[in-house]
Amino acid sequence: MQPTLVSHADSVVINNERFRPYLTRDVIAARVAEIAADIDRDLEGEVPILVGVLNGAFIFLADLMRALTIECEVDFLKLSSYGAAKISSGRVHELKSLDAEVTGRHIILVEDIVDTGLSMQFLQKKLGEMNPASVRTATLLHKVDATRIPLDLDYVGFEIDNLFVVGYGLDYAQVGRQLADIYILDD
Ligand code: 5GP
Repeated sequence: MQPTLVSHADSVVINNERFRPYLTRDVIAARVAEIAADIDRDLEGEVPILVGVLNGAFIFLADLMRALTIECEVDFLKLSSYGAAKISSGRVHELKSLDAEVTGRHIILVEDIVDTGLSMQFLQKKLGEMNPASVRTATLLHKVDATRIPLDLDYVGFEIDNLFVVGYGLDYAQVGRQLADIYILDD
């Protein structure tokens, strides 16, 4: 089988498209620690449920959870994805729903990236209807220029350029999630 992910000294090539280094693992880890400290402070004495959006958020969620000192629980849901495309289809639907009982609980919705904002808007509304004590949002990345809808984001790791990124859980057609650093499309 042909390798679809090829690492070079200064870039990675996925499915013949070149991505350049953007955020290193050290920079990411430092920011995740800062977000965890904010959540520790904001939810002191509470036991929030971290709700990860599969698949992309699983690495950020795992690092964020281990950086928290307050007690917390975890659950996951899954939305329709980009598939093999690099542009949002503009449509969102749920592929896997929550298992946890969230009534009366503090929820932190954990996303890898907010692009158009449609997924986050959809999930905030959906979880809000389940009568939780609160719904907060944490996203590692935010493509600010791509978000045209009003959206409340509580914890944002990095505001980034409006270009496709891979690594640290984020894929290009399922490839590249395992990269420890984040790379951006070299246009
Ligand atoms: P939105 O609904 O905000 O347009 O898109 C959110 C989802 O699209 C993210 O959870 C992620 O799965 C995917 N996505 C958006 N931008 C990127 C990107 O630059 N790279 C990757 N790998 N996925 C992205």
